[in-house]
Amino acid sequence: ATPTALMVGTGRGAQLGVLIKGPEVLESTRRVDTVVLDKTGTVTTGKMTLLDVVVADGESADQVLALAGALEDSSEHPIAQAIAKGARDRVGEPASVEGFANMAGLGVQGVVDGRAVVVGRTRLLEDWSLHLDAELERAMRAAEAEGKTAVAVGWDGAARGVLVVADAVKPTSAEAVSQLRALGLTPIMLTGDNEAAARTIAAQVGIDEVIAEVLPQDKVAVVERLQAEGKVVAMVGDGVNDAAALAQADLGLAMGTGTDVAIEASDLTLVRGDLRAAVDAIRLARRTLGTIK
Ligand code: ADP
Ligand code: MG
Repeated sequence: ATPTALMVGTGRGAQLGVLIKGPEVLESTRRVDTVVLDKTGTVTTGKMTLLDVVVADGESADQVLALAGALEDSSEHPIAQAIAKGARDRVGEPASVEGFANMAGLGVQGVVDGRAVVVGRTRLLEDWSLHLDAELERAMRAAEAEGKTAVAVGWDGAARGVLVVADAVKPTSAEAVSQLRALGLTPIMLTGDNEAAARTIAAQVGIDEVIAEVLPQDKVAVVERLQAEGKVVAMVGDGVNDAAALAQADLGLAMGTGTDVAIEASDLTLVRGDLRAAVDAIRLARRTLGTIK
């Protein structure tokens, strides 16, 4: 394409709510055949709320919530913010925390009220030899089957409760996915969240292929694997945990509503955080480069 056509394409992108890093980006946009979509904050709004507190026999829901809320108050994760707010609303200002640590893609830990507390995936609690009883396991499965995210809370040798959070699918996500298919592209959901929740959300927007329970540092390997299979991969994400994968993809698209790190790692920014803008960008690139060769 001529430099002028590319400039016009870039300008048209801005009108569509797509910021394009440079005119050359349109070329990779045109060639994309596979679109990898992060779940939380990309397909869904990322604004989670605390829906339920389930506790093991003899435990107090307020205490589970208070200790988990105190820990999560130090984390920026959407799950953490939902839990911290839920705790504040129900049990008041959080206690202070010592030795806070965030394990990306797994959860958080720290000392609250003299107790070493862990909040996160079952896997993380198991590393601490904190096992969920049948009741808590069941609560977790049930929530996940509904597309919700459940995290476990434990301290002093036992898992004490399960916190259920959820966000909503963006109203435009299903339409965007069906438009991607209409353009001949294959959508794939990639998430750190559990398989059942991811599949439920994917089904709601019409995505068949789901790669779940992927640690933040492993998302980039998934993109590399798809590329090794000969695919030209676009990755759409919003989080710090998506940045490496966004940079590795043939085309990185960041949600404008997402983190700065994700935006910096990307070639395109979808200003309004609306997935349909990704479809507009791909159509625009095909038109700009397809007609004026
Ligand atoms: P996503 O790919 O959907 O953005 P992440 O990789 O950030 O998800 O997180 C994956 C999983 O790790 C979450 O679904 C949750 O189970 C657990 N997790 C991550 N951060 C936290 C946290 N601050 N508190 C509790 N659990 C967490
Ligand atoms: Mg995300």
